[in-house]
Amino acid sequence: MKQTTEDRRQKTDDRAPSVSEGRKLPSWLRRPLPADEAFRHTQQVLSSLGLETICSNANCPNRGECWARGTATVLILGNVCTRNCRFCSLTCGKPAPPDLTEPARIAEMAKQMRLKYLVITSVNRDDLSDGGAGHFRDCVNKVRQQCPDMKFEILTPDFRHCQAQALKILRPCLPFVFAHNVETVPALYPTARAGGNYQRSLNLLKITKKNYNNVQTKSSIMLGLGETDAQVEQVLKDLRKVGCDRITIGQYLKPSKNSLEVVEYVTPAKFDWWKQKAMELGFSWITSSPFTRSSYFAEQQNTL
Ligand code: SF4
Repeated sequence: MKQTTEDRRQKTDDRAPSVSEGRKLPSWLRRPLPADEAFRHTQQVLSSLGLETICSNANCPNRGECWARGTATVLILGNVCTRNCRFCSLTCGKPAPPDLTEPARIAEMAKQMRLKYLVITSVNRDDLSDGGAGHFRDCVNKVRQQCPDMKFEILTPDFRHCQAQALKILRPCLPFVFAHNVETVPALYPTARAGGNYQRSLNLLKITKKNYNNVQTKSSIMLGLGETDAQVEQVLKDLRKVGCDRITIGQYLKPSKNSLEVVEYVTPAKFDWWKQKAMELGFSWITSSPFTRSSYFAEQQNTL
């Protein structure tokens, strides 16, 4: 079985600084990395099946907590991305073709970890004519064969050239939640997300809701990259305008040495304030806190 990012990290300990490793962080962002039995079990299952996760690849600060709870977000279609977003630690380059054994390995993971809710995400695959939608479908359907009661959340790229085609491909595997992250405010796209397009991201959420009204749509925004309150509020309004049901709001943390610097550490009280704002705007499910990430406690949002 091929080595995963997590395997390499354990061997070389060459990980980028995490929030627990002594950078000058405000007190609310310091916490230890738990490594109990349950954490090691998750680590072992993922490693034995050669699966990548966004948890390891993005240096997520919640990895200890989520893995100890027996949950992880699977990263499909490799860990080499065709874009180069400066908030992200994934490598940009020429990805390998989709691995046809991946769906079965994810199904095995779901079984071994006794999951009831599974979040699947991917890198951008602008090199594939369907943006990777077919592989998403194959992964979901394979897991469904083994775990018919599983609820799925897919966190997709923006399917740059093929949004309508991708949604058609995904029709037979429609998940409970369809997520696509706007990540930041449009004014910061040129610096943070140069390969992205704010309107394109909104459009994906819009046409998903229009075509599949019973699917919950979800998006996520990071704070601390230099955005203003007015810009964030406008993003929340834009998301509601395209029918987005769910929102997560979290603190941007520099995931690797080449990533953008943090401009501001937003206080927990301000995150509560944003939660209130999002509620007033009509989002049906909201998480807003410094450690919130798109998939943080996603398994606890499986009810309407
Ligand atoms: S928040 Fe999401 S990406 Fe981070 S560790 Fe948890 S499941 Fe993984």
